[in-house]
Amino acid sequence: MNIKFHSMAVFTVFATAVSATVLANPELTINGVSFESRANWMRLANSALEISGSPCPFAAFGTVIVNHTDSNPGKLICMGVNENSKTGNPSLHGEIAAIKNCTAILTDPEGDYRLTPAEAQIAFEGLSLYTNAESCPMCASAIRWSGFREYIYGTSIETLINQGWGQIRVPSVNIFEASYDLPIQSRLIGNLLANETDPFFLWQYNPSYPCPRGCTRSRGLGASLCS
Ligand SMILES: [Zn+2]
Repeated sequence: MNIKFHSMAVFTVFATAVSATVLANPELTINGVSFESRANWMRLANSALEISGSPCPFAAFGTVIVNHTDSNPGKLICMGVNENSKTGNPSLHGEIAAIKNCTAILTDPEGDYRLTPAEAQIAFEGLSLYTNAESCPMCASAIRWSGFREYIYGTSIETLINQGWGQIRVPSVNIFEASYDLPIQSRLIGNLLANETDPFFLWQYNPSYPCPRGCTRSRGLGASLCS
């Protein structure tokens, strides 16, 4: 009995360790959505940055929210980009801005959906959020509170930290692991198209890294920024 109990305990520890570190290969067809479809939505999250008026905003965080449940490759509901500097609201990261934008679109009495607030909250359970960089713990928590069906990110927090970004060092997978009491489960897909999302975050603290397409380096006051 002791031996059996011991081996089960070892298995439990091993399983916990694996779940905390392993993510699904983002090139698989998950929930019936192909990598090619998801890659195009992630490219749209990158191009959402143009909402900010520049292809190379310093805070290059873009989000799109998509409905994959009614059609293939899915329908865009709304976009969002980091609006800290535009609004002065430090909590308006791209994901929060997108959730706010989608809520307004879903409940617009003149719009395509005309949902009540209660219906809008339920609608999020069928939506997928794409963000070109892994969410901070605030946004990852907002994603879980919203009840999204899926959450897909490109560049990892680990890459952001490695490249000089100040980050709260809690990976999204930890937020997802800690939120199992919430009624809606959500699928996490990480590192999707990171080869294309990474360049948006590698130039800010590395003066020798090339600017994103459409931008050039401008030097001033000790800074070397793309604009
Ligand atoms: Zn955030």
